[in-house]
Amino acid sequence: MVGPWSFAGSAGMLPEEVLAEARRGLGERSIGGLSALELPFAGEDFHDLRDAAEADLRALLDLPPTYRVLFLQGGATAQFSLVPLNLAGGREQAAYLETGLWSRRAIAAARRMTGVHTARSPAVLARAGDAAYWHVTTTETADGTRLANLPEANADVPLVADMTADLLTAPLAADRFGVVYASAQKNIGTAGLTVVIVREDLLGRALPGTPAPFDYTLQAREESRVNTPPVAALFVAGRMLKWLRRNGGLAEMERRAARRSARLYEIIDGSGCYASVAARGERSPIAVCFRLPDAAAEKRFLDGAARRGLNHLRGHPSVGGIRVSLYNGVPDAAVDALAEYMAGFAEGARRRGGGGWQRPALPSATNGDAREH
Ligand SMILES: *Cc1c(COP(=O)(O)O)cnc(C)c1O
Repeated sequence: MVGPWSFAGSAGMLPEEVLAEARRGLGERSIGGLSALELPFAGEDFHDLRDAAEADLRALLDLPPTYRVLFLQGGATAQFSLVPLNLAGGREQAAYLETGLWSRRAIAAARRMTGVHTARSPAVLARAGDAAYWHVTTTETADGTRLANLPEANADVPLVADMTADLLTAPLAADRFGVVYASAQKNIGTAGLTVVIVREDLLGRALPGTPAPFDYTLQAREESRVNTPPVAALFVAGRMLKWLRRNGGLAEMERRAARRSARLYEIIDGSGCYASVAARGERSPIAVCFRLPDAAAEKRFLDGAARRGLNHLRGHPSVGGIRVSLYNGVPDAAVDALAEYMAGFAEGARRRGGGGWQRPALPSATNGDAREH
């Protein structure tokens, strides 16, 4: 397989097979005489499509029957406000683990709805008293970190997780969570669909005024058909879920991400040319973020990468540097090509620098801002 390839953080590639199925499902009238772009949501064909997507998601996640699956719109960013609207009723505050850019955005949105207590470590979070829920962000894509430990379970306080960057990249211990949410465009399919998994006992708590399409309780009752769902995006996710099952499921996705990211981190650590943004114990297998010594070197790196069809490697604007997103749909061939390019670029830099190439320092402005240590 040849490029160009995308390592974008904001949306993942789809596997070739899924893309081919999407071409047919969206571009041809192959579903009961219609395309997925035209399918009415009240009809049988959409019912079947939705039911199959839920069944495949449940099978992949080994989801207990006490959890409901909602297929919504609005993305994870809408959930930043909808989680407090649906769960914060009745208590004074919610507690948030602050780990990086996305958790800070979730905190800012929640503050407009409820009292918010923030903590920088799971142990401190667990000491937050009478919280409606604890919120964590399991992978921070801008900062290149993953949450190594969840807060200790507390039967009284449900754990809510933004798993937009890593849902379906590894098996999930679902029973640790009250609510899990993820936008689909990174690992599950394409933009427009948001997956929300909610434990049944947390339904019925929405604050008055919660918009009906975003009310977990109503959507659970109506099987995500309170109003027109994102039909085409759900079709694509349905194909992706089948692909995940055919390709070894989540245990295999986890092994694959570990193998691919380890290869890149090894090049980063051994190069003398790149510096990992995340500290060792916190490194994400999905978002590999690193820096070069200065802006000129980063530009050379990105330009050379683009000439080889290795695209969308620029880091999140708030952090800078380089970011390699290794979402489920990124093919191994892309990672092979990138690893080869990174090793070659570092070798060239060493030769040009005659041994004087300095390991880049991490600017403290970004370093101290987001992380805990
Ligand atoms: C990408 C991302 C988001 C934002 O998703 P949208 O669909 O753009 O709202 C939120 N949280 C995390 C962890 C992400 O990776």
